[in-house]
Amino acid sequence: MSAMPHHEIPLSKPDISDHEEELVLRTLRSDRLSIGPMVDRFESLVAERVGVKHAVACSSGTAGLHMTLLALGIGPGDEVVTTPFSFIASSNVILYTGAIPVFVDICPKSLNADPAQIEAAITDKTKAILAVEAFGNPEHMDTYARIAAKHEIPLIEDCCEALGTTLGGKQCGSFGRAGVFGFYPNKQITTGEGGMIVTDDDRLADTARSLRNHGRAVQGRGAVSQGSTGGSWLHHERLGFNYRMPELSAALGVAQMERLDQIIASRRAVAEMYIERMAGVTDLVLPSPTDDTFMSWFVYVVRLSTGYTREERDRIIQGLRMHDVGSSDYFPCIHLQPFYQNAFGFHQGAFPIAESVSARTLALPFFSGMTKRDVDIVVQTLEVMISRENLSRRA
Ligand SMILES: *Cc1c(COP(=O)(O)O)cnc(C)c1O
Repeated sequence: MSAMPHHEIPLSKPDISDHEEELVLRTLRSDRLSIGPMVDRFESLVAERVGVKHAVACSSGTAGLHMTLLALGIGPGDEVVTTPFSFIASSNVILYTGAIPVFVDICPKSLNADPAQIEAAITDKTKAILAVEAFGNPEHMDTYARIAAKHEIPLIEDCCEALGTTLGGKQCGSFGRAGVFGFYPNKQITTGEGGMIVTDDDRLADTARSLRNHGRAVQGRGAVSQGSTGGSWLHHERLGFNYRMPELSAALGVAQMERLDQIIASRRAVAEMYIERMAGVTDLVLPSPTDDTFMSWFVYVVRLSTGYTREERDRIIQGLRMHDVGSSDYFPCIHLQPFYQNAFGFHQGAFPIAESVSARTLALPFFSGMTKRDVDIVVQTLEVMISRENLSRRA
């Protein structure tokens, strides 16, 4: 093959500039490494962007989802309707509270939970809908919000993959009672590790601020008494956690938020290159956001057409990796993960659309700054791997 890359093209890579370095270094030199001004500033930037009253920074997207469920009073005996086609954390957090995730199958176009099936799954035990923008696609979020309102239960938006994306002009994170972003290094922006709850609900925000800080009382907007001043540093009102975001991470987050539009523009340019380059490639289903969607693009995940097997897909991923092109099987179904199968007896065939899609999807390298040549190498390698499968089938 003539166009094999001489350098590795990773699956993802954070977009870090001098601005991030400066702000992190300045914070390091400030001696204020936790509960300080950077977390406040990062929260304000995200709240303003999403157009909500409160943002509560925390140690991970998972921690943010966990606290959101707890703040909504979800616990043992409750059911939460959610999707099996997601990163495992969106379901694990339901189990952390003692509640049960009730999975529904997905829509094969959006890859998000099928709204009709969500509605059909709601019982009097259902305490919330936990919706996920799979690969950052916000389709149906407005519909989920209507269903939640009709049944008088909260919609929780796991928008960990959708920062900066809008549907009908509305920001992801603002569709439900609360939204949760994640800042792991493969997301649109990163804090190394980190997460953020966004909400208009005063009580939810206050409860989350207390939960992230060992259950301490919250005084004013986000501020917590520091012992030396208020004497209540060792006063704990509820069973809390240490889910705080460090100042160094928040500094990174502030710098990333200040560059968000630039980062999104860069990601959109890469997506455009893929769309253009993929035009002639057969046997692939490409992402298809609705016309009223503005994508900030989390990943670029394509799917082999029906007829391709999981084994063929896995060999294609291996083939890409062997040629230094990052690729992964986003997402294996949650209900078929060993822990879920063992604990709940889920079996193959429980959610046929999610399973069928999951056997044929593959994530391609996607990060801001990818060049046209990178995209060309990725797609050319993918084409070769697909035709290799076709040849071995005929043999
Ligand atoms: C990234 C992500 C999370 C949170 O992940 P953390 O690693 O805990 O920050 C949750 N849900 C989805 C769908 C995600 O993609």
